[in-house]
Amino acid sequence: MVDETAPELRRPVLERPPGRANSLIGRLILFGTLVTLVAVASSVLILSVLTRRQARSHLVELLSQNQSNARDLQERSLEELLWISALMSQSPTLRAAMDTYRSEASASGPRRADLLATVGAEVERIRTLMGKDLVIVTDERGVVLASTPPQPGGEGGAGSSLADSSWMRQVLDPDAPEAHPIFGLMARGDDRYHVGCVPIAMQGFVIGTLTIGDRVDAGWFEGRRGSLRSDVALMTGGRVIGSTLETGSLAPALADAAALNPASWMTSATGRSAGTATTEMPPAATVIVSGEEFLAVPISMGTDDKGQPATLLLLQSLTRALEPMQHSFLVALVSCGALTVILAGLAAWRISRSILVPLERFVSFVRSVATTHDASQRFRESGLTAEVETLNDAFGDLLDSLQEREKLLMLHQREELIRMERLKESEKLASLGRMLSGAAHEINNPLTAVLGQVDLTLSDAGLPVKSKDRLEKARKEAHRISALVRNLLKVAHRDTGERRRMDLHQILRETLDLRKHDFNAAGISLTFEPCDKPIVLQANELELQQVFLNIINNAFDALKEMKEAKQAAGQLEVTVRTGSSAGRASVTISDNGPGMKQPGKVFDHFYTTKDIGKGTGLGLSITHAIVQNHGGTITAQNQPTGGACFVIDLPHEAAAPQERLAPVPHPLLAGPEPKNLPAPLQLETALIVEDEPTVLEYQMEILRSLGASPVGARSADEAIEWLRRREFQVIVSDMKMPGGKSGADLFAWVGNNLPAMTGRFVFVTGDTANETTQAFLEKSGRPYLMKPFGLEDYVQALRDAQTLAPVG
Ligand code: ADP
Repeated sequence: MVDETAPELRRPVLERPPGRANSLIGRLILFGTLVTLVAVASSVLILSVLTRRQARSHLVELLSQNQSNARDLQERSLEELLWISALMSQSPTLRAAMDTYRSEASASGPRRADLLATVGAEVERIRTLMGKDLVIVTDERGVVLASTPPQPGGEGGAGSSLADSSWMRQVLDPDAPEAHPIFGLMARGDDRYHVGCVPIAMQGFVIGTLTIGDRVDAGWFEGRRGSLRSDVALMTGGRVIGSTLETGSLAPALADAAALNPASWMTSATGRSAGTATTEMPPAATVIVSGEEFLAVPISMGTDDKGQPATLLLLQSLTRALEPMQHSFLVALVSCGALTVILAGLAAWRISRSILVPLERFVSFVRSVATTHDASQRFRESGLTAEVETLNDAFGDLLDSLQEREKLLMLHQREELIRMERLKESEKLASLGRMLSGAAHEINNPLTAVLGQVDLTLSDAGLPVKSKDRLEKARKEAHRISALVRNLLKVAHRDTGERRRMDLHQILRETLDLRKHDFNAAGISLTFEPCDKPIVLQANELELQQVFLNIINNAFDALKEMKEAKQAAGQLEVTVRTGSSAGRASVTISDNGPGMKQPGKVFDHFYTTKDIGKGTGLGLSITHAIVQNHGGTITAQNQPTGGACFVIDLPHEAAAPQERLAPVPHPLLAGPEPKNLPAPLQLETALIVEDEPTVLEYQMEILRSLGASPVGARSADEAIEWLRRREFQVIVSDMKMPGGKSGADLFAWVGNNLPAMTGRFVFVTGDTANETTQAFLEKSGRPYLMKPFGLEDYVQALRDAQTLAPVG
């Protein structure tokens, strides 16, 4: 779990970054609007391009239609001209006048003036009849006979010549295959006329020409615009003569449009006579006039007086044609834009409901996890969107892995604690071991002397019975001390004795037998309830007896104290039960006493609630160590009904049929019975190396009683001095001695200098639990005695030494 006092871990999660809450929705609106506007704009652009193209082709078609109308107009004018020409040639007055005029070519004076007046009157009549602006009749050489209306100053009147004008030349061209009309532009004073000129033929001869014209003025242009449904512009010699549009801005625009240059299209247009209307439509050109885009096509209007081609341009405004569509597009764009904003707002509102609301709830869930530090919580809500679902799944995975990690950390922490505890324990045990080892050495030496002296005294046959009894008691107590010291060493070194197969029930029965008498005397019942199957263990009997005795003795003490304090109600009892299952044996020892004051501490070293001198606090810690060394466990707890209950769990083996398994009596309860001295040994010389004078004296006494002449040495160096001088049948050496050299060093010296004598060693030690000593003894292969030792053990060790290496 995260430490509560670590605010820096929480703050970033709990703090809400300002102004971020609606960023998604804002972005969505913006993005949606932009995307839609771009889409609409693109569509409008594409539509406008398509529309423009369509409008253009529509205008081109219209222009082509207008062009064809113009051609029809010209054709009608032509027919009209021809008709007038025919009419005139049939007019008797005109015929007579012209004929006379012709025959009197050289005539002059009043007669000729009459003729011309007659022609003039006739022409005026035709003009009025036709409603034309200009009618001119010439003779066959192009000399004007009559011209109406007369020009101010008489210019171009009768007698003047039009023979130089280009269209007149073409009409009167004698090489022309047939007489044909010509259209063109004619300048008279400040006015310009669109004229058509036809020859007047009589009996196959051209007797003159008829020219009829319309004044090219604003009315003319308006008339053209009305009939051709287009704006028009008239050009000649590259100059704009007039237009329905503003002429000033039209001129430069037309100058740029190469396609409208008459030179380019008239020459390519069939190569016909320039005076006839072209049947082929030149390509439409685009011209910009005052920022307005026009499509223009030219129509030939013949030539002017000087032979320059005259062109009528038909102009259709593309800009004007597109205007309504552009207006529609604008309306569409604005409507779509407004609709987009509304739709984007709606979409954002919908998204905020479907994403942001669950997201908000999910965020507050995450915050609650951060606040409570409870990684087991999960966000479970229905109707989540896929995005929040995915986020939730990922967060769930993260929490799972955090939980897993937390478990691992706790496990590691626990393992580390256990390791530390063990380390502490082993350090404690190591120092305890060193202390106990020294203490054992100090106790064992005098104890060996005490026991030895008692044994020696007891071996005296003439000893009074009373003294013998007292010595027996002293011997028994000395053995108890010896056993206690040995157990202290076992606690320190966790040493286990030799193990063998044994019957658990048999051991328990015999252990209980040992205490039965005391229990009966104290009025406490001791019941044994074995399970129905035999239980065989691989164990050290002495140690197991010690385990059971420690627990039973404690129960006895507790119950007895209760009884003495008159706190007991009813029968006091201790019950021992066994059970077995799946290769494990259990022994449950319970009582109905006061129970333990601190059940968790009873296995601690030196924990005791007993009075000083009565308890050491080592019994249960030794018990715990022994059970552990046997691969078992032991637990202590108070029963709900009161009283303590110990459960020992041990691995057991399969019992072989008919197997006889016997226990060994416990040294704490009874020391070995004094036995008669063994048979004398064939021993004459012996070297005893021992720093403790009482123990040395004891050994010397034993050996002397065996008929030998022992020599004593107080240190390894002293022993070496002796060995340099003479031989010994046996060397009995202590392991731990003052002066730097130990029994092991002495053995090594003998090995190097007197190798034959290494087979005569017997070692004496106060601490076999010491691992170094134990290892040395095992390696040397020599017999050894454990202090304190009795007389019998000592003699047996000497005998073993001789058996291993018979004295030579
Ligand atoms: P000692 O017997 O020398 O005190 P132990 O290690 O054998 O040391 O026992 C430790 C302590 O455990 C005892 O002093 C006693 O307080 C407690 N104890 C053990 N067994 C019992 C029991 N059956 N009832 C009550 N207390 C008990």
